[in-house]
Amino acid sequence: MGSVVVVGGGVAGLTCAWRLSRAGHDVEVLEREAAPGGRMRSEDHGGYRIERGAQFLTRGYHNLHAIADALGIGGSIRSLGRPRDAVLRDGRLHELDFHAAGHMLQSRLLSGRAKGRLLRLPIELLRQRKYLDPLHPERAACLDRENLADGLRRLVGDEAVEYLLAPVFSSRFATEPEELSLAFGLIVLRMLAGDFQLEAFEGGNGALTRALAETLRVRCGCRVTSVETETDGARVRYEKGGRSGSVFADAVVVALPGSLVAAVCPKLTPEERGFFEAVRYNRGTIVHLLLDRRPTTLPYYGVAFLRREGLDLYGLAVDHHKPGVVPHGAGLVNGVLNQAATERLWDASDDEVGNLVVENLTRTPVGRLAPVDCVVHRWDPMLPQFGVGYLPRLARFSQRMNRSPRSAFAGDYLVGSTTEAALTSGMRAATEIADQLRT
Ligand SMILES: Cc1cc2nc3c(=O)[nH]c(=O)nc-3n(C[C@H](O)[C@H](O)[C@H](O)COP(=O)(O)OP(=O)(O)OC[C@H]3O[C@@H](n4cnc5c(N)ncnc54)[C@H](O)[C@@H]3O)c2cc1C
Repeated sequence: MGSVVVVGGGVAGLTCAWRLSRAGHDVEVLEREAAPGGRMRSEDHGGYRIERGAQFLTRGYHNLHAIADALGIGGSIRSLGRPRDAVLRDGRLHELDFHAAGHMLQSRLLSGRAKGRLLRLPIELLRQRKYLDPLHPERAACLDRENLADGLRRLVGDEAVEYLLAPVFSSRFATEPEELSLAFGLIVLRMLAGDFQLEAFEGGNGALTRALAETLRVRCGCRVTSVETETDGARVRYEKGGRSGSVFADAVVVALPGSLVAAVCPKLTPEERGFFEAVRYNRGTIVHLLLDRRPTTLPYYGVAFLRREGLDLYGLAVDHHKPGVVPHGAGLVNGVLNQAATERLWDASDDEVGNLVVENLTRTPVGRLAPVDCVVHRWDPMLPQFGVGYLPRLARFSQRMNRSPRSAFAGDYLVGSTTEAALTSGMRAATEIADQLRT
């Protein structure tokens, strides 16, 4: 058994720390923010429970479910039933049910010809299924040759991409489909075609990271400035409350967003450095509108907007459909700004951003909402960008021969842009460290 420092208290780092400490190691988590949880945290605003980051889980998140059960909180995961989604086209919201092919065929969102071509998608998923594992994206490295927009156009044509797939991907990943790879998109579609029943923790998804952190020694407000590993252990330097400190442990797990790793780890091997310097995240803005009643115009859970509608938003998520997040009868809606608006308004006031979202929605069938408050979260980094060429780099990184000693890495960029993926990376890092400390 040995001592381990985990740098970063998001779901990846906390899962890793929890596993190692259950195995008997002496573990400490160092987290920069005042509270652990990272991009899976819930916060209260006068009776409204707002998600900082992850908004939903799915029944297919098997590792997350197993850990929630082990922590005794699995019973507070609630299904969201069959929430309907919608896409805005030509000023009308078209309802969609991704689980019912018949529903899609009846929808007037797409022409008959586009619906016919869309059938090529399940055929492609079936053809490539052996490469499409949501928890092993590197297995799809051989498919990673073109961007998502071009690849989908080739498969299903312009109309289905423009009016259905691009808005759905953009509203979920807060980016343009040109920024993602087709290989990544196929993995996501494979996930959607599987056990994709939406769920959430009653009272907020932060329940999971909170429960993990409660079992651990977590030092918050502690910004790690450097991690140096040697064959006998790791030196971690940090700043806390304006003072510098350092800790030496038998091993370290770096559980930071991948784009931050190279800056804090000066002794990476050249292969590792090359990989980390090419990891990209987008930045994004989520605007939560707190409403004193539920708008009747939003019976949907997710609403996606087309680029050509000219709005500043990729989409909306209607959070009040989740259990225990708003006062009785109240409403909670969040909007995802598109990339252009995020860049334009990065330094704008929260009021300005909130007003922009309200004004945008008056141009849609959602109509004028009158929020009692508005909470803006600006994320940088937000989500890892699985762009063209990333999966072969990830595959090479996973199989690298030259590894920094006494260390492992965890984070969503290693598996996928979800809590399940981040948590799985934490589980794997725990196994890696336990093996290193045994030898
Ligand atoms: C707006 C948004 C919506 C999302 N929606 C969903 C969703 O609905 N469903 C889903 O499954 N996933 C969703 N995700 C993705 C999911 O939340 C993330 O993939 C996951 O939480 C990432 O966990 P992580 O531990 O890898 O990283 P993080 O949570 O980012 O953890 C890294 C931690 O490191 C800390 N840190 C950074 N620098 C330092 C330093 N120098 N020293 C010490 N600590 C440091 C950070 O404060 C952070 O706590 C969403 C993400 C965002 C941002």
